[in-house]
Amino acid sequence: MLKIENLHADVDGKAILKGLSLTINPGEIHAIMGPNGAGKSTLSYVLAGRPGYEVTDGSVTFQGEDLLDKEPHERAAAGVFLGFQYPVEIPGVSNVQFLREALNAQRRLRGEEPLSGGDFLKRARAQADALGLSMDMLKRPVNVGFSGGEKKRNEMVQMGIIDPTLAILDETDSGLDIDALRTVGHGINTIMRKPDKAVLLITHYQRLLDYVKPDFVHVLAAGRIVRTGGADLALELEREGYGAIAA
Ligand code: ADP
Ligand code: MG
Ligand code: MG
Repeated sequence: MLKIENLHADVDGKAILKGLSLTINPGEIHAIMGPNGAGKSTLSYVLAGRPGYEVTDGSVTFQGEDLLDKEPHERAAAGVFLGFQYPVEIPGVSNVQFLREALNAQRRLRGEEPLSGGDFLKRARAQADALGLSMDMLKRPVNVGFSGGEKKRNEMVQMGIIDPTLAILDETDSGLDIDALRTVGHGINTIMRKPDKAVLLITHYQRLLDYVKPDFVHVLAAGRIVRTGGADLALELEREGYGAIAA
């Protein structure tokens, strides 16, 4: 599904990713762990096509197509979803408006019919119910005044409505209490744990992996993947720290 080969990327003229390779097959959940400043967020931004992140070498294909060639909105329409470490607030635009616009823009790009208001609301309500977010919150401006946990819950509802093929979730567990963590885990499992979907889960801590069991765990240090293992590797890292591996 996703094939990253020898990826090098600069931010502000500074080399951050330095030869990163990773292959993700359908049905797989990959966790990326690593120390602060390793390049984890940079990887997610490069994959999403954020301006200012310049690829200087290597390649990324998504379902056989060059991902780096596509504009950010084309990547989204192709099925790539990015969950932010710090979800943005959008005053004046309700979640419902925002998500309906986003979903229908993607559907148009794929040559599909846009969803009617009624069909969209049905879909939104189903996702909100499944993740314990009230419709009142979905009608409020995007993330404005939401607590950290509510933002992440909202992000899971967004993911459920958009229904992507590949979800890249950057520290989606940061700042969550246990209940919110369980909700996020449940969201990832129910929405994305499917044979034709995949997840790249970027996380600092092992906690979330108690709820979402990864098939592979990778350690990212100084812009490259320095170690790959199974779910056990996360436990080992939790015990021993990154020091020994990332040094
Ligand atoms: P992580 O998510 O693993 O903590 P990041 O990808 O956020 O790491 O950052 C990797 C490195 O890139 C850090 O050294 C950070 O300071 C640097 N960096 C990130 N964004 C910028 C920027 N806009 N300008 C310069 N350096 C940046
Ligand atoms: Mg960080
Ligand atoms: Mg980060």
